[in-house]
Amino acid sequence: MAKHAGWIALLGILLTLAACGHALADISTPTATRTPSPTLTVSPSPTGTPTPSATPTRSPTPSPTPTTTATPTPAPLAFDVAGITTAPNCGVTMIRGVIRDQTRLLNGIRVHVWWEGSDGVLSLPSGEDPTKPDGYWDVVLDGYAKAGRWFVAVVHPQTGEHISPVLTVETDAEPCEPDSGGRQVIDVDFLLVNGQGGRPGPTLTPTATATPTPTPTPWPTPDGQPRTVRVPILMYHYISTPPPGSNAIRRDLSVPPERFREHLAYLKSQGYQTITLHDLVYALTRGTPLPPKPIILTFDDGYEDNYTNAFPILQEFGYVGTFFIVTNNPDTGRPGYMTWDQLREMHAAGMEIGSHARDHVDLRGKDDDYLIWQILGSSEAIANQLGFRPEAFAYPSGRYNQHIIDLVRSAHYWAAVTTEGGMTHSTDTLLTLHRIRVRGHWSAVGLANALAYWEQNDR
Ligand SMILES: [Zn+2]
Repeated sequence: MAKHAGWIALLGILLTLAACGHALADISTPTATRTPSPTLTVSPSPTGTPTPSATPTRSPTPSPTPTTTATPTPAPLAFDVAGITTAPNCGVTMIRGVIRDQTRLLNGIRVHVWWEGSDGVLSLPSGEDPTKPDGYWDVVLDGYAKAGRWFVAVVHPQTGEHISPVLTVETDAEPCEPDSGGRQVIDVDFLLVNGQGGRPGPTLTPTATATPTPTPTPWPTPDGQPRTVRVPILMYHYISTPPPGSNAIRRDLSVPPERFREHLAYLKSQGYQTITLHDLVYALTRGTPLPPKPIILTFDDGYEDNYTNAFPILQEFGYVGTFFIVTNNPDTGRPGYMTWDQLREMHAAGMEIGSHARDHVDLRGKDDDYLIWQILGSSEAIANQLGFRPEAFAYPSGRYNQHIIDLVRSAHYWAAVTTEGGMTHSTDTLLTLHRIRVRGHWSAVGLANALAYWEQNDR
């Protein structure tokens, strides 16, 4: 199922992009120039594995040697385990990782996962492919054998032979409280050490696999008191003038910078003070006081104009915003989207950074491996790059269901926003927060009318 999930995901991305009015350019994988790998000796250890053995063939008689056009024998493809990190936790175990060379994730290379249980040595059921289409792989060991020894190795794309050391994983996670959704996560980094493998995938940033993932900030311990607060959460997308010829959707999603400045000037004149979703969580779970007239400004999708336009204008007014980013965009250096460096600068200046998944896809109906990859994976991408776990999640295209909510909670997010309208929030709605969509044509008067409308109609 995971095998197809990748293509379904890609289709989903294309449809979502088309629906959102995004440009369809730059979807394709960047082409790579790969430097020859350093020659290292790696002994593949096929012990106890159902690997077909490669029989070397040699001709008994030395053939006359043509000396002119000797093609160099390509080095045999080989990978090594460059790193393993374990995040201990209770619950089921997830093993996952990357397949890469020195500079890029590699497509088209697969891993083989099998385990030794009471029934003997078993492979993942046929059709279960832990590899993803961009050099990532993951498998959740729930539903197979929760305890025991698991093995992972990289397989040769043609022969199926193991071409990495066999990694042994003991799954000894403690059981969790029922339904707590805890996971023990084991990250494995397979590095190409010989030959040329796979198709080039996204460029790796140097710290992507080297930095251990920060542990999530503990939740504020709820004091058990049910609370309700009324805080408008405005939803912006582009803060720029839409390009000539933009369709109605794109125009509606775009607030030009001068209009955005009018919005903030109006909010300032009315005494609104910006807070973050972090503050809202504390107010709802702990009763931490909020300033008078609190408001939250959110920006979806991570467009570059959020950095070039929204960020400086927010600073003019001493305001903060919450930016929901689709992490594959900065990971692949996609044009038109904020980079990790820009996001780092914004976070240092007090802006809140949240996740909008790895890809901008409808998460409904996807299998768990894929959902965890999108929801937890995007959290880890932010953690690796910016050094903190994001506390807030925005459902891509506003689509979600109870199962997705549960996974968002289990991935340690504190709050999640929807695209449903409203401004009343309670301790029960932290993962389904309502927002007020800001329309591209709104002047300050339009914004004032919308705030007045929800003030009247959402109680
Ligand atoms: Zn979005």
